[in-house]
Amino acid sequence: MADTMSEMVDAALAAAKPRCGEGTVADYIPALAKVDPNQIGLAVATTDGVCHTAGDADTPFSIQSVSKVFTLALALERTSDALWSCVGREPSGTAFNSIVQLESENGRPRNPLINAGAIAVTDRLIGDRSTEETIAELVGFLRERAVDDTIEIDEEVAQSEAKAGARNRSLAHFMAAFDNLTQPVETALGAYFRQCALSLSCRQLAQAGLFLACNGRDPKTGAQIISEERCRRINAVMMTCGHYDNSGEFAFRVGLPGKSGVGGGILAIAPGRGAIAAWSPGLNKAGTSLAGSAALEHFAKAAGWSVFD
Ligand code: GLU
Repeated sequence: MADTMSEMVDAALAAAKPRCGEGTVADYIPALAKVDPNQIGLAVATTDGVCHTAGDADTPFSIQSVSKVFTLALALERTSDALWSCVGREPSGTAFNSIVQLESENGRPRNPLINAGAIAVTDRLIGDRSTEETIAELVGFLRERAVDDTIEIDEEVAQSEAKAGARNRSLAHFMAAFDNLTQPVETALGAYFRQCALSLSCRQLAQAGLFLACNGRDPKTGAQIISEERCRRINAVMMTCGHYDNSGEFAFRVGLPGKSGVGGGILAIAPGRGAIAAWSPGLNKAGTSLAGSAALEHFAKAAGWSVFD
C-alpha cells in the first residue's frame, strides 16, 4: 500500500536529518549567525486544506528571500504588468547579491528574486504609501493566507541586516543612479530589510504559499487572490530564478518551483497539489538550505510531485 502523506513527510525529514548542521549559517547578517544549525522542519500543505508536518515545523525562522515571492505577488496586483519595465524575468546565473550584471544591464535587475530585483519590486510596492502601510499590507496578507495572526517581523533581524547592509545599499544606489528606484534609497531598503525579517514557521509558510498551488485561489473559500495567469507566471519565475545560481540544480533535483532564503527556509510549489516549506539553517554556497533541499528532494520523489510529470 502506498505511504500516506504524513508517512512521506516523516520519511523525508528522517532522510534529510543527517545533513542537518552541514553548510554554513548566514553569518553576514549577525542576528542570523546566532541560530542553532541543528534544526530541521518540514510542512506540506495540500490543496484539500490539510497540513502535514515533521521535526521543527512550528519553530519560527527568518524567511529572508522567500518573502520576495509575496512582495512580487502584491506588487503585480498593485502595478500590474508595468512592473516588468523595472525588472526582467531571466535567470541571472549569478549570486543573490551580485552587482556585476546590474552595471552591464543599465540598472535593470535580471529578475525579481535576486536582491536588486526584489529591492526594485518593493520600491514599486510602496508606491505613494508609507513604508509602514506597505509592510502592514504584507504582514496582513501573510496572516490572512496562513490564517494565523501571530505572524510578525523580527525587528532585531531587520536592524541587524540594516546595519550590515552595505552590499544591498550598493545595489540600491546603483539602481538609483540609473533612475530605476522611485523611492529614496533608504526608504526602499527599510521596507526590504523588514520584509526579509518576517518570521514564520514551516507550517505557516506552507499555508501562506498554498494559493500558488491553487491557481491563485484561496483553497478554502475559492476566492481568487491573484489571477490564474499571474499565479502560473510567478511559479515560472520561481522555477527559473528562485535559487540564484543554484536554480538549475534545484529544478533538476526537486522538479518544483521554489524560493530559498538565507535563513534556511525554502518554499516549493506543486501546482494542483500543495505547498511545501522546508527549513534548516545550514546553507550551500548559493544560499540554499542543504538539509532543507534534501528533505524536499526526498518528499517530492516519494510523493511523485513534479511539474515534469
Ligand atoms: N536579506 C537577504 C539579503 O538581502 C536575503 C538573501 C536571501 O535570503 O537569499 O542579503
